[in-house]
Amino acid sequence: MIIYGTRATHLESKNLIGETCPQCHKQGTINMSIFGRYAHLFWIPFFPAGKIGFSQCTHCLHALEVKEMPDNLKRQFQRLKASVQYPRWHFTGLGLLALAGVALGIFLKEENKANQEYLASPQVGDVYEYKTNTDHYSTLKVVEVKDKSVLVLENLYETEARGQVHTLNKEANYTKPAIEISKQELQKQYEEGKIFDVERD
Ligand SMILES: [Zn+2]
Repeated sequence: MIIYGTRATHLESKNLIGETCPQCHKQGTINMSIFGRYAHLFWIPFFPAGKIGFSQCTHCLHALEVKEMPDNLKRQFQRLKASVQYPRWHFTGLGLLALAGVALGIFLKEENKANQEYLASPQVGDVYEYKTNTDHYSTLKVVEVKDKSVLVLENLYETEARGQVHTLNKEANYTKPAIEISKQELQKQYEEGKIFDVERD
């Protein structure tokens, strides 16, 4: 199974009226063809990876790669190559990546907005995911909401993997007594990145 690599597709061919075949010396029998190479990943064309060319005589069928061509044919190759564009579909993967980037950007922005709203008006049951002083990760759970502060229970456990922190959110992991944190302090810790996510059911 080939997951990535390069392929080539035919872009353009042109008959070179004024050129002579180096093999059979007939004039006007040389066809120059340009192929566009592209890198693919999981069969999706990703980005162009250069142009290659061949010439072939329609009379004697003698074919030449660029490096084998006499100088006059090399010049013709360069000229034709410069005039041919890569087809758009050779850029499919890059286009998809750009779209994914835009979608991710929108998602992150929306999530950030939601987190800020949750922190500004906390509810009982909200879970704050935060970074500990030893660069581990743990959670706090809101058990009471006051006018300018919240009461939270601390999680007994922490993890080294940020992506795993949600697995710590179990009722039995939380320990009393509750501690009080002002809403202002919550905002500050979010802005500093100490609290990095708010989960609400
Ligand atoms: Zn020929």
